[in-house]
Amino acid sequence: MEKTIFSKIIDGEIPGKFAYEDEQVVVLHDINPKAPIHLLIIPRKPIPTLMDVTAEDLPLIAHIHVVAQKLANQFQVKGFRLINNCGKAGGQEVFHIHYHFLAGFEE
Ligand code: 5GP
Repeated sequence: MEKTIFSKIIDGEIPGKFAYEDEQVVVLHDINPKAPIHLLIIPRKPIPTLMDVTAEDLPLIAHIHVVAQKLANQFQVKGFRLINNCGKAGGQEVFHIHYHFLAGFEE
């Protein structure tokens, strides 16, 4: 299967601005931000869509939520939106599962 743009960034083949990384995920600043803070939480494992998640991936999916908490602390925001676009009909453009972390809106 051809590598996704996110796998190429994770592997250092093309540049990306990293906000956080650990053994399971990387967090990139979105190249086309839709909010004052727009990050992408991306598992290193290239699962294409949420529909491809299996039982063995559930700890990873839970971990993404812990990472969202870390990002809220790191960027000192009191709230955020965590969004997954699933499938072409759901607005997904990059078929490597990721969660949009959107924050910095007016209170
Ligand atoms: P999707 O529509 O698949 O949920 O969102 C894909 C997101 O990836 C979009 O918000 C888009 O701006 C972002 N994106 C696409 N290509 C790149 C890239 O090369 N680098 C970064 N940092 N973000 C990208």
